[in-house]
Amino acid sequence: MAYDIFSVLHNFFYFLSTNEGVLFRAATELIIFLIVTYMIVSEYLREKNSEHKYLSIAFASLALHRFITVFVFSHAVFGEIPLPKIESFMPVVLHFLEIFAFVLLSNAFVYPYRKDSKKLLSVIEIETLSLFIISVLIEVLWLNSLKMNSEAVFSAFYGFAVFSIIKVIILIRPLFIILKHKMEFRYEHNIISAFAVYAMVPLLQSLNFFFYNNQNPKLEVFLNPFPFISVMLFTKVIYLKLVDKAILKDKLRLSEEKYRAAKELGEMKDGFVSVVSHELRTPLTSMKLYAKLLESGKFGKTTDKQKKAVSIINQETDRLSALIEDILHLSKLESKKETINAGAFDFHEFAVNHHIYELARENGITVKVSIPKKFIMYVDGEKFKQVFINLIGNAIKFTEKGGTITVNAMSEKNHWSISIRDTGKGIAKENIPKLFDKFFQVESYMTRDKGGIGLGLAIAKHIVDLHNGDIKVESELGKGSSFTVIIPKSLETEFDS
Ligand code: ADP
Repeated sequence: MAYDIFSVLHNFFYFLSTNEGVLFRAATELIIFLIVTYMIVSEYLREKNSEHKYLSIAFASLALHRFITVFVFSHAVFGEIPLPKIESFMPVVLHFLEIFAFVLLSNAFVYPYRKDSKKLLSVIEIETLSLFIISVLIEVLWLNSLKMNSEAVFSAFYGFAVFSIIKVIILIRPLFIILKHKMEFRYEHNIISAFAVYAMVPLLQSLNFFFYNNQNPKLEVFLNPFPFISVMLFTKVIYLKLVDKAILKDKLRLSEEKYRAAKELGEMKDGFVSVVSHELRTPLTSMKLYAKLLESGKFGKTTDKQKKAVSIINQETDRLSALIEDILHLSKLESKKETINAGAFDFHEFAVNHHIYELARENGITVKVSIPKKFIMYVDGEKFKQVFINLIGNAIKFTEKGGTITVNAMSEKNHWSISIRDTGKGIAKENIPKLFDKFFQVESYMTRDKGGIGLGLAIAKHIVDLHNGDIKVESELGKGSSFTVIIPKSLETEFDS
């Protein structure tokens, strides 16, 4: 006889529809479902979330379904107990268990789109309750029909068709949800095929029931492999989900480690900079002292050329110590040791005629100041002065001759707002978010002609943060910038109490 793969397959599919075949299939599926249940339950015990909970219960119900099938069919196959004995309630129980599992499965797989877990629970509760009521009704009708004809088979009873239709609906439903959100769904192809293949069985069974009066043996043989394929697909999805999670966890752990290492390195660098700055302070103080002594002629007469050189040394040491003070100040602010000492501070008195405007005027910049008289703010005066000086200093630094700087102060209901606007070079949009990072400068060290090391705005931001305030920046390249400091008035009440 010639070897014919199709007849082998046909015989195998036929075997699957015999009692022995059902037992074989159910036993295999039972093992698979037990393994999958074990995998998900252990994941649930590690990370308790609704998705894992519903998947665990769903696969446990499917395992129970297969266990009952194995139990019953092994009696039929090995114990020769005729099947009709258990026909009175077993079919309804089995259908109920399977549909209950589908309800949970379909809801769990679309879980990312039902983030509200309370809503999800109520959907599952309503669906399970309806299923229960329908099952009880079918059971009553089935018992009744068994009473009239003890030879009746459940698969020819219309309750069977009702169960099949419910199964098709519940299995097809997630497909619509997944297809609708296709772009964002992970492994949607696997999930879609698993549900679609599983839905083939009740679909073909319904067709068989309605069109062939449950008498189409070909159709019955044909649908036998589907549940098994679908079980394999579901197992694959669960496996992918869990493996993916494990990989993600690993990646997260690695990036956490990297982040910690980078943070430690950053802290080490900050510590190093702060120690070096401290150490530079002492020699710098001596250098300044000797330069001053030289300048005053305490070490003998100096020529004009020497005087000029000493004056440059003096200016540069002043600049260097200002930079070092900035570094130390920022490191103190960053260490969170700094607190504010809020009190009444007359901003009008401080800023209306500040000597720094002289520097602007020397550079050919017009300064317009508009601050209401007796502009009393409740801030840490000493620290707030630095915010203002840093902002004005930048406005002067980055505005060309002929430009204008406008200082405005306003008292709103809940906050004070101080704005410093210039008609200078402006800042590109992409650089605005980085402005307050320490050492950030738009121009590189090599191309810039202005002093500074990129700490002024970082210091200002820290001080404003200490006051629970905010600094807003608006700027357009080539047109100018505007920095607005907002300080909440809540400090005032804190100060009063
Ligand atoms: P520094 O002025 O010491 O460089 P800052 O922290 O005060 O440091 O400022 C950081 C950078 O932000 C400056 O180098 C400059 O590129 C940009 N910047 C700040 N204020 C202005 C402004 N008013 N106009 C144009 N650019 C500015």
